[in-house]
Amino acid sequence: MTKFIFVTGGVVSSLGKGIASASIGRLLESRGLKVTIAKFDPYLNVDPGTMSPYQHGEVFVLDDGGETDLDLGHYERFLTARLSRNNSVSSGKIYNSVISKERRGDYLGKTVQVVPHITNEIRESILKIAKEQKVDVCIVEIGGTIGDIESLPFLEAVRQFRYDIGKENAINIHVTLVPYIEASGELKTKPTQKTVAELRAIGIQPDVILCRSELPLPEDIKNKISLFCNVEPEAVYEALDAASIYEVPLLFQAQGLDDFLVKKLHLKATSRANLTQWSKFVKQVYSPKKEMEIAIAGKYVELHDAYKSIMESFIHAGVANSVKVRLRWVDSEDVEKHGAAKLLKGVSGILVPGGFGDRGIEGKIQVIKYAREKKIPFFGICLGMQCAVIEFARHIMKLNTANSGEFDPNTSDEVISMMADQLKIQGLGGTMRLGAYPCKVEKGTKAYQAYKQTLIQERHRHRYEFNNVYREKAKAMGLKLSGVSPDGTLVEMVELPNHPWFVGVQFHPELKSRPLAPHPLFREFVKAAVKYGHKKITKK
Ligand code: GLN
Repeated sequence: MTKFIFVTGGVVSSLGKGIASASIGRLLESRGLKVTIAKFDPYLNVDPGTMSPYQHGEVFVLDDGGETDLDLGHYERFLTARLSRNNSVSSGKIYNSVISKERRGDYLGKTVQVVPHITNEIRESILKIAKEQKVDVCIVEIGGTIGDIESLPFLEAVRQFRYDIGKENAINIHVTLVPYIEASGELKTKPTQKTVAELRAIGIQPDVILCRSELPLPEDIKNKISLFCNVEPEAVYEALDAASIYEVPLLFQAQGLDDFLVKKLHLKATSRANLTQWSKFVKQVYSPKKEMEIAIAGKYVELHDAYKSIMESFIHAGVANSVKVRLRWVDSEDVEKHGAAKLLKGVSGILVPGGFGDRGIEGKIQVIKYAREKKIPFFGICLGMQCAVIEFARHIMKLNTANSGEFDPNTSDEVISMMADQLKIQGLGGTMRLGAYPCKVEKGTKAYQAYKQTLIQERHRHRYEFNNVYREKAKAMGLKLSGVSPDGTLVEMVELPNHPWFVGVQFHPELKSRPLAPHPLFREFVKAAVKYGHKKITKK
């Protein structure tokens, strides 16, 4: 039977509930349990795929093509499990389903209401995950903060769910903030008392209070929280600010949180958490031998969450190369104003990430030209690969006006064009080429050197592709097509053989990098950057 852990948050948003959930998942997995984690979010979009990265950060795509919240990225990086699109549920998805059922006549004769129809739909979605993934523990993070109007149906569903299956099978962990007031030199418990009171008013008594805090919580503060919040003293845990998110499972384990959860939920777990490899990884994150800088030239650079998985992939690849990768955020529109040389001086590698729309495109093309000509290691992801093809077409194939149909539908040389399948599609929600697809890798290429495999699976999220009309000419002019779809119709990877490391990929490798299994392309890119920049690299 699956046991459930509901993670809620109080006081303020951005408390790191996602990292807390992922860390608890990792801890329970390290006790030999099968774990999954889901996110229930109160917004009305059916999925985050239609939101701007400025609104919601990156869209994390799963193997099955689900477009999900970036927290799912944390869950997958902390767990060994691969998640399903059912692990990401928004109010929009729930309402969409209930309204479709109503139109079909499934509730004929009834008035359709938030309680019980919406709450039942939420409860069924929770059970569906447990049934589909047959896990020992299903962790469900509820987005938003207690007190928000929008998350009330989710909380009511959680209350009913726990009542039905028994509180020994479904517990609540409430994440709160214990602020430190500098002037009086005190840690304050009042916000925690208030948010727990609010949670209890809607019928949920938390089982564990996880306190975000800058400072360790003294025993008397823990006792006070225990008393006012009606939980056992050993159920109050601290979640200290950590320099690396990957340390959080270790900090929880040091306080015995896994033992408490195993006891509380009567889980059949191994007696000790096996976190040996994980701790080794964290030690390496904290003690790099060298440091170097890689530029990310994109258009959403003010909000780093838009490139979350890329940032994490560099941490993983950095450890694999014993180096700390510092990121220089370069706004591609600034490149258009100030030139590539000025903004990229001194970097050891350049990455152009994915994106949509024509803003900043010419800047990205300038960046790529600079990387190609100066022989600086270059990695192009999705839109980054498409821009690399445009740059090659314009400057090597001498097709001066070459462009993507996305940016200039009237271009005479549409070297990047909409995929045939996409032409017939209407509507922009969930209609791109999404999820994992196979790709054949050609031997003797940099791609093969990284993967050491001729057939790989990578995740996609795009509408445009390399236009096959230009394939032979591009090859003849020296562009290597190192990866194609198994039927040969789609170009998935391009590279330049006469360059230290210049690789563009149509898919999103960053979605599959894990701390203990860094992505081979990121690992090789960082390796090439270390080699290129060895004179500039600072010893730690
Ligand atoms: N806008 C491009 C496309 O749709 C690239 C997408 C991306 O970078 N994810 O093909």
